Amino acid sequence: MISVEQAQQIVLDSVEKVGWEYVELLDALGRVLAEDVIAPEPIPPWDNSAMDGFALRAEDSRGASHEQPVMLRLIGTVGAGQIFDGVLENGQVIRIMTGAPLPRGADAVIRQEDTQASDQGVLILRQVGPGQNVRYGGEDVKAGEQVLPTGAFCRPGVIGLLAALGKRRVAVYHRPRAGIFATGDELLRWDEMPAPGKIHNSNSYALGAQVLQAGGLPVLLGPVADRKDLLARHLREGVRSDLLLTSGGVSVGDFDLMADTLHELGADVRVRGVHMRPGKPFTFALLEGKPVFALPGNPISCMVTFELFVRPALRKMQDQRSVFHPEITATTVQPIRNKDRRPAYLRVILTPTRAGYTARLTGDQGSAMLHSMAYADGLACVPGETEITPGSEVRVLLLGDEPAAGPLDGS
Ligand code: AMP
Ligand code: MG
Repeated sequence: MISVEQAQQIVLDSVEKVGWEYVELLDALGRVLAEDVIAPEPIPPWDNSAMDGFALRAEDSRGASHEQPVMLRLIGTVGAGQIFDGVLENGQVIRIMTGAPLPRGADAVIRQEDTQASDQGVLILRQVGPGQNVRYGGEDVKAGEQVLPTGAFCRPGVIGLLAALGKRRVAVYHRPRAGIFATGDELLRWDEMPAPGKIHNSNSYALGAQVLQAGGLPVLLGPVADRKDLLARHLREGVRSDLLLTSGGVSVGDFDLMADTLHELGADVRVRGVHMRPGKPFTFALLEGKPVFALPGNPISCMVTFELFVRPALRKMQDQRSVFHPEITATTVQPIRNKDRRPAYLRVILTPTRAGYTARLTGDQGSAMLHSMAYADGLACVPGETEITPGSEVRVLLLGDEPAAGPLDGS
């Protein structure tokens, strides 16, 4: 049986980038840039004041102090959004507000707190150097500079930067459409009343939420009963989306018909089982050229295999730069035993401490225990036949938000 890493590679080699579209700036939040953004203009556009105070020539403040203030003549006021029409000469100051363009002739701004108004003018109580409290044009972004590359994830700060450059629309990758259906005779449809032997279909909703979080668009189909003809029909319908996720019916029970059905439809089955726990029955195929992820039915196996195989695929389809979960090392506060030969992906709660994160299990780790995923901050990766003692380190995949890796850090 192949390893998690081998299965991930097979999956990633089997999926391609989706197309792109222009969207309004706010609609780009959480999406991935499909263009290199070159600054058409500098930020800030011109030299301006970083403070409320007075624009002056720095040399005029030479030697000024509280004990020996220098008196300068006030010749006008300039606020943000205004232009001072004139040139500042030696011996003069102009009242200036934060963000107002620096008047010609001035080379510094003195903070209001370092001055004192008087009938004759403005008393300068401190010496300032050239450039002090001045924000120079282009000091944030230079015209012609590439500020964001294709593949950058649009966080609020990115949206702000794009807006500051005057962008109103931006090219982003499509959100991959993921068809989703759960299989199982026991599953209630959302509009059905509970009945003996039947359970709610949680997988479709957990998967739908995971798809949304990974930037995709879920298309809920099914649930589908354990019958080959129905599975075949839904598989054919499902692959009209960019990818298809199914749950259940991939292990070795009498009603586990998914793999057979995929074969009968002529699918190219590329992964059939992975050396891992939970999630061993994970199956991956191409049907009519579209990726089909046949995930195990146990709710935790289903969600864990999504995080390890589907999410990276969704991210690659959107041209994301990093496709895997960020990893940290945490210290366990309890013994963690993996008696199985397969590597285990255990659900943990992370607590920040001064010495880094500690990890504790979310309770019972059975693959049907939904609470274990609901409370999890991360997946602890524990090699086969290993016991981790309290106080030792464990590798944890973070399930949370987008990491703060800058788009221009060269990684
Ligand atoms: P299967 O992989 O089809 O053998 O299902 C394994 C276990 O997961 C069984 O206990 C199922 O009842 C349960 N299960 C399968 N699909 C779902 C689902 N959509 N929602 C909740 N539980 C499910
Ligand atoms: Mg089943």
